Amino acid sequence: MNLEKIKTIAVAGAGTMGAGIAQVAAQAGYSVLLYDISEAALQKGKQTIEKNLSIAIEKGKMTGEEKKKILASVSFVTSVDDLKCDVLIEAVLEKLEVKQELFARVSEVNNHSCILATNTSSIPISLIANNSKIKDQRSKMLVVGMHFFNPPHLMKLVEVVSGKETAPEIAQTIFELTKKFGKHPVMAKDRPGFIVNRIGKLYHTEPIKILEEGIADAETIDALMEATGFKMGPFKLIDLIGVDANLNVTKSLYEL
Ligand code: NAD
Repeated sequence: MNLEKIKTIAVAGAGTMGAGIAQVAAQAGYSVLLYDISEAALQKGKQTIEKNLSIAIEKGKMTGEEKKKILASVSFVTSVDDLKCDVLIEAVLEKLEVKQELFARVSEVNNHSCILATNTSSIPISLIANNSKIKDQRSKMLVVGMHFFNPPHLMKLVEVVSGKETAPEIAQTIFELTKKFGKHPVMAKDRPGFIVNRIGKLYHTEPIKILEEGIADAETIDALMEATGFKMGPFKLIDLIGVDANLNVTKSLYEL
């Protein structure tokens, strides 16, 4: 599938990442379906998008009219059956079986023709594609990594990751789509943590060890790292990412 054929983008998971990704896709002019199993999470995701757009207006980066148009292009849904789309970007739990189940269902809903992009932080793309529930073998060629950073509506970098099965033209289409989103894509290899999280893990794990060893408390470590030029101390960053999401990513790095 080439870029011109992409009209509708579905985003699964309306949490920290999914809401922002849906906003980015809508801002790029796409028709967006934002899906979550939880109605409450979906409502929260909607509020997050509204708030982000209002801040953009306050900063003079957007008009009220543009905000209205962007919001009107996002539909909020709680059934997988509604996910008729050209590209699915999943941002659900960092659990292999949850992502595999979702891809199999969405592939079925779209007669196995939809690009299945995952925002996984660390699970190898080939493991997600190696999905016995996907009925059409060719669909595995449509599985690709599209790794955004938090917060997705502001952070420019996106790692585009090809697994063993990913068709090169699909990775290229996602690379182009990322550019259309106004982001900075980088092709990355399919290794746990890809590039950035592999480096970034040391920024999380070593401070935790320093804390455990009683060398310094969390506030002191954050203040020291910020004083050396890092924008955010490691403990503040772990809070931003989410302690549970961060733990899942760290586990994946060592276990997969
Ligand atoms: P989150 O917990 O904030 O949101 C996850 C959402 O997915 C929740 O709203 C939950 O209700 C929903 N969900 C769970 N199972 C579902 C299913 N089967 N179908 C539909 N919705 C489902 O998580 P997050 O921090 O946004 O992370 C999402 C993904 O993005 C993870 O794979 C994570 O590793 C990755 N990621 C996270 C960050 C980060 O900084 N938080 C950065 C990059 C990538």
